[in-house]
Amino acid sequence: MDWKKFRNPQLIADILQLLQSHQQPLRLMEVCGTHTMAIGHWGIRKLLPATISLISGPGCPVCVTPTSLIDALIELKSVTIATFGDLIRVPGNYGSLELARARGLQVKVIYSPLEALELAEKREVILVGIGFETTIPGMAQTLIEARRRNLKNFSLLPAFKTIPPALRALLKENDVQIDGFLLPGHVSVIIGLESYRFMTQEFGIGGIITGFEPLDIVTAIYHLALQQENSPRIENEYRRCVSDRGNRIARDLMEQVLEVQDAPWRGLGWIPGSGLGIRAEFAEFDASRKYGITLAAGNDPPGCRCGDVLKGKIIPPECPLFARVCQPENPIGPCMVSSEGSCAAYYKYEQ
Ligand code: SF4
Repeated sequence: MDWKKFRNPQLIADILQLLQSHQQPLRLMEVCGTHTMAIGHWGIRKLLPATISLISGPGCPVCVTPTSLIDALIELKSVTIATFGDLIRVPGNYGSLELARARGLQVKVIYSPLEALELAEKREVILVGIGFETTIPGMAQTLIEARRRNLKNFSLLPAFKTIPPALRALLKENDVQIDGFLLPGHVSVIIGLESYRFMTQEFGIGGIITGFEPLDIVTAIYHLALQQENSPRIENEYRRCVSDRGNRIARDLMEQVLEVQDAPWRGLGWIPGSGLGIRAEFAEFDASRKYGITLAAGNDPPGCRCGDVLKGKIIPPECPLFARVCQPENPIGPCMVSSEGSCAAYYKYEQ
């Protein structure tokens, strides 16, 4: 893959020039945290005309994970918690996992879910199951592998989220003006274009699946601007990775091990059918059954407005704590912790 062609400055400048004549106000939501970071990194927001604004959505898995998950993990004793890195710095009601680790809680940062299985050969391990459709197939495969190895010391705490129900909830709530979506490239590799059809059919809103290079992003914005002048639809600008039907093998893997359930999201509350729990056939590996863990939607830490940021109601600098009290070294909410968090992106690139 020749990445340079997706960073071609002349092409990008030409598209930005075309956008300068866009007169109608256009509010676009980028769903994916990686898009938020890329928009900040490439300075795209500042290059758009004043009529076009980009707002961030609920596409950072660490950010949408409710505080109750951190609180429940901190309560656990005599078990090693295996998790991806960003989560350990997210503040809960009793501090973060990082703080709890300093006080003796066993927390291990992993880079692949299979590392949790290696740990479980020697000790009791809970793998924290956060993530969207991109991450979930690997987690499902991990459960199958745990069964193959006949591991007795391993369980997974399912706190997975799926994107289409969250978009439906946002559109139903309808208290934020959204004229179109930059749809997440990674998630779409798994779920495909068809999964977003409901947005135009039920709500008359269009979206473009796009990649993460600057040319991908400005092209998608340009096409959404054209949609505003014509008619909304779902388009795929990321054909080099995403097909209409997505990755069936990955979805079958998820289907084999997991089942749809309601899930609590930070900021959005309980969303019907937006989570995936572990099927009864794999119950022996279900940490929520094994340890009696139930999650609640919960609230943001006092003063933190992550929930409003995740719904696109405000942009991070509108939070009174942004950059004054809340900074990456002293995060008050998860949106400042995560490497895909909107507050972290604004802090790093847009002050
Ligand atoms: S700046 Fe900090 S306190 Fe404000 S919404 Fe973002 S994470 Fe929460």
